Amino acid sequence: MFFCFRGFYYMKLLGEYLREEYGCKVYKLSLSAGVTCPNRDGRIGYGGCIFCSAGGSGEFAANADKSIPDQIEEAKLRVSKKIKGEAKYISYFQSYTNTYGDPDHLERIYREAIGGNDIVALSIGTRPDCISDKILKILSDINKIKPVWVELGLQTIHKRSAVYIRRGYDLSCYDEAVKRLKDCGLTVITHLILGLPGETAEDMKESVKYVVNSKVNGIKLQLLHILKGTDLEKEYYLGKVRVMEMDEYTDLLGELIPLIPDDVIIHRLTGDGDKKLLIAPLWSADKKKVLNAINKKLRSLE
Ligand code: SF4
Repeated sequence: MFFCFRGFYYMKLLGEYLREEYGCKVYKLSLSAGVTCPNRDGRIGYGGCIFCSAGGSGEFAANADKSIPDQIEEAKLRVSKKIKGEAKYISYFQSYTNTYGDPDHLERIYREAIGGNDIVALSIGTRPDCISDKILKILSDINKIKPVWVELGLQTIHKRSAVYIRRGYDLSCYDEAVKRLKDCGLTVITHLILGLPGETAEDMKESVKYVVNSKVNGIKLQLLHILKGTDLEKEYYLGKVRVMEMDEYTDLLGELIPLIPDDVIIHRLTGDGDKKLLIAPLWSADKKKVLNAINKKLRSLE
């Protein structure tokens, strides 16, 4: 989906960017690196971020016991029903912290993941505090073969929220990681959560402005979801957390999107969590309806 409102603002969503870049629809293939996360294994914490599900914030990944080529074939099969005409793919390691682990193992699977001619890029979700010099060198080398995208889960720039969600690193760590990644020519995408408890629209605007000013290539805006089995679920049932209504969310996006310049690609505007785990807000499960509402809201701003 692509919105273009000249005179008011211009924004580009990921799907359209990829179509322009590669001449066809590009699908993400969710793969599993078989890694964990320092916020789960005790290096930083045991409970993980308060919103993070057992699947490590990525529910669609393949079975880590399988080889990467086998995972790729299975992931292609999963998206095959959606494909009409030519398609290309991005190998996507989303769940857990995909730069955390044995660098030799990680290099091997990254290289396997970019193997096919129809794979156009490698996308790696991680934390800013898990990018060692060795990993950076590996990513830089692979980036010379195919584009490497590094997705950083920042979620918020506000310290009180970062402490509440148990993120486990400071904003300065994010700044440094973005600089090091960008200096190596890597593509950086920052993930923010909208609707964290206690955050106002003004707080979220500040987070978006900060991310844009950090000169990243892309931004992901994720509505706060309450997922089954998370500590946030407990808070929700205790009445300590409320979730946004759809109108509230579309109004908020109407304020945030104009802050994003046209050279920052918007990778996400809602969320695409596993419906089986979603506790609230249930309206967000109807992605088509939500995107239509966002589109309507944005057109009303022209
Ligand atoms: S850093 Fe990512 S994988 Fe680790 S607990 Fe937080 S959201 Fe989950």
